[in-house]
Amino acid sequence: MALRVRAAMEAISLAMADQTDRGEVAFYIPELATSDPQNFAMSVSLASGEQISVGTSDTAFSIQSISKIFTLAIALGRFGDGFWRRVGREPSTMAFNSIQELEIRKGRPANPFVNAGAITTTDMILAGSTPAECIGEILQFVRLAASDDEIFVNPAVAASETATGHKNWALAHVLTAFGNLEHPCEMTLGVYFHQCAIAMTCAQLARCGRFLAGFDAEQDLVAAKHVRSINALMMTCGHYNGSGEFAYRVGIPSKSGVGGGILAIVPHVASIAVWSPGLDRDGNSLLGIQALELLSESMGWSLFQGATSSLDNPLVSNRSRTCR
Ligand code: GLN
Repeated sequence: MALRVRAAMEAISLAMADQTDRGEVAFYIPELATSDPQNFAMSVSLASGEQISVGTSDTAFSIQSISKIFTLAIALGRFGDGFWRRVGREPSTMAFNSIQELEIRKGRPANPFVNAGAITTTDMILAGSTPAECIGEILQFVRLAASDDEIFVNPAVAASETATGHKNWALAHVLTAFGNLEHPCEMTLGVYFHQCAIAMTCAQLARCGRFLAGFDAEQDLVAAKHVRSINALMMTCGHYNGSGEFAYRVGIPSKSGVGGGILAIVPHVASIAVWSPGLDRDGNSLLGIQALELLSESMGWSLFQGATSSLDNPLVSNRSRTCR
């Protein structure tokens, strides 16, 4: 399979180099506004441990909202189903940082991937530790997941968002007003801004997603039932208002960040990271989605694919065996 994946990725990398409309970088976080939209990278980590990368896959970028997967994993591990008392699991209808939506929902965020939901998740895992310890725990989680200790927070990005992230400050205050934030806003947001500022290369991020693909189960990072919950949330909410369109075009659980990264999971088959800093109107990487659409199409990786579409996909081939 690795050879077919490599051929597909090289073709995609060439196609992406030709794209003139590359979206708009996240100007609202000054430190991200300087990203170069010409960047494009993709890395695929397979069950076998083989890894295939194209483009600037060794350049670190800000994972931003992709970090919400890891805090959700920590929170589910700690609170189990009790986690959902404070956060919903329904797609949102407004922008990822909408204050209006949080008000309408009376302080219980739609899901853990919109900012309000992620801030609440961070508030939950902060219980019993200092902000510095909590950031340390999140870093330790991603380092273990990626089997790589060279993953760090970019302090300039964290400082940039701390100074200018007024919507997030507002969301934290609205959560407090509804009694859904236990810590002072500056403590919870201190952690939140730092988790968003974690920097990874595409190669590191693809390895980091292996636990979600069901690989390396012996690592025991997250219980299988939580992996299922996280993938379901990624499928329905991972691209905010663009989630339906993403399911239609790509058809695999995935989570975007305004740094231009996307982590996408083909269960039991592949963990894929893609990065291109230009965003579409929903705040998702424009080229990242195009590249994933092409890869999913050429490998037959959509989970909604018909039974005969790919022999490489164990989900599909198991299904066709049972049907016979
Ligand atoms: N740090 C960003 C914010 O809070 C994360 C948003 C995102 O990546 N979609 O606005």
